[in-house]
Amino acid sequence: MPQTHAIYAHTGEDVLSSVFQQLDVDDDRLFNITMTFLHEMWDGLNNYGHDMAMIPTFVRSIPDGSEKGTFLALDLGGTNLRVCEVNLHGDKTFSLRQQKYKVSDALKTGEATTLFDYLADSVDAFLTDSGSPNCALPPSLARRNLAEVSDEEDVPYIPLGLTFSFPVEQTALDSGKLLTWTKGFAAKNAIGNDVVKLLQDAFDRKNMHVRCVALVNDTVGALLSRAYTSGGCILGAIFGTGTNGAYVEDMASISKLGRSAAVKEGNLMVVNTEWGGFNNSRSALPSTPYDNKVDRESINPGKQAFEKFISGMYLGEITRNVIVSLIDAAPKPLLFSGHSSKQLNKQWGVDTAVLSEVEEAWEGIGRFAPEDTGSTAEKLEHIRDVIIKRMELPPDSVSLNDADVVRKICTHIAWRAARLSSCAVAAVLFQTGRARLTRGGEETKNTAPLVDEGKRIGVGVDGSLVEHYPYFEKKLRASLRVLVGEDVERRVDIGLAKDGSGVGAALCALVAYRQNMVKQY
Ligand code: BGC
Ligand code: MG
Repeated sequence: MPQTHAIYAHTGEDVLSSVFQQLDVDDDRLFNITMTFLHEMWDGLNNYGHDMAMIPTFVRSIPDGSEKGTFLALDLGGTNLRVCEVNLHGDKTFSLRQQKYKVSDALKTGEATTLFDYLADSVDAFLTDSGSPNCALPPSLARRNLAEVSDEEDVPYIPLGLTFSFPVEQTALDSGKLLTWTKGFAAKNAIGNDVVKLLQDAFDRKNMHVRCVALVNDTVGALLSRAYTSGGCILGAIFGTGTNGAYVEDMASISKLGRSAAVKEGNLMVVNTEWGGFNNSRSALPSTPYDNKVDRESINPGKQAFEKFISGMYLGEITRNVIVSLIDAAPKPLLFSGHSSKQLNKQWGVDTAVLSEVEEAWEGIGRFAPEDTGSTAEKLEHIRDVIIKRMELPPDSVSLNDADVVRKICTHIAWRAARLSSCAVAAVLFQTGRARLTRGGEETKNTAPLVDEGKRIGVGVDGSLVEHYPYFEKKLRASLRVLVGEDVERRVDIGLAKDGSGVGAALCALVAYRQNMVKQY
């Protein structure tokens, strides 16, 4: 008999439970994804050219908190552009002065030289404002024009570390070619070029006495800064506009580096995984039609598959796709009595912050302090208000039941993001010998003793999702426990690498110093 009943959902309940089912990732799937993740890690360590690029960063020492010095840092890659002056005190603490600048869509998608000129202008503006008495950089130096300097004069440069949060194939601490843009950036004539050179050329065009001495990914920044402040760290991860991780690898495992004196067991190097590009074939990822739509309409279809399930740039858009499909459900609408809005109909019309607010209202946290939320009905009232306001819907089109459905959609999408994130963390723990996978394929039967058994496992994290999304870390931990067992999960010390991009870039600039690449001013 033909199985037609599976194709036609007859009631709203059927449709809803099928949506939620599609968004669920069960434990078996979680293990399967983790194993696939490991295989793609190994592929990336073996040869160049994989989507999960496993980039050697040339960072070979991990800070211990004793590092000292003042450096400029420039951070591009998330929502804002930041220029900071970082003062490493040498006692695990630092102070930082920073200025944020907006990066318009026109800059993100225009000519690369225009974007890099803007970066240089921002640094210039920051230095111009640096006349304050507590500024460690000598302003006279910062403002000095090359034109005023005679040839014999040996004018020192202000060293700057660049945090550039895109996939860059590094060839040294201070050079690397952009492999691809992500997160909505698409500036022309940048891919394939050395980003340090692009920036240095912009400084030089403006006769600025600044030299870019180090290039880091934000994940590497998170790793280094967490190591600096906490005394040890093996993984830096970003869960923000995008997602990615960098970890400390044994150089002998990075076989694509070929054979050289440095490449031997016991020598360490930080590897930037670029895990946002994990499983672009989507063979293991739990893709739904809502995800496929996000991908198809994005600026980089077929790329950054993992990132599109996890990061802040996309969770709102997945949610919007689910909501719109329920408004359009046949034979009868399943949300808002069939009403939609301009906001809901446009791409990116629902920000991930909306999901955050819905969950905060439900959990009674943030501005929905416990005293404001009592009964379920009261919580749903709050959620209903959030929906009406943020999705710009006519108030009487949103029922409490609608609020509950939207709340469940948000929860499912956030849980899925956190569970998938835990696969990446578990794979790194396994790869570095810190954990065994407690279920799954052949490789998990490894019974070799664990590295640093019984000790704290330092993980530095940063990004809007892990910083602000209600219980993101708690959810990630819950599924990490499923993958690596309770003993290991408990020892994983996840800490916010606050200002990790700035501090990490400063620490890298310091490494460049130690290698005598630049003169101290
Ligand atoms: C980029 C990574 C970056 C991550 C987090 C991704 O889109 O490819 O290089 O680390 O976003 O900012
Ligand atoms: Mg950032």
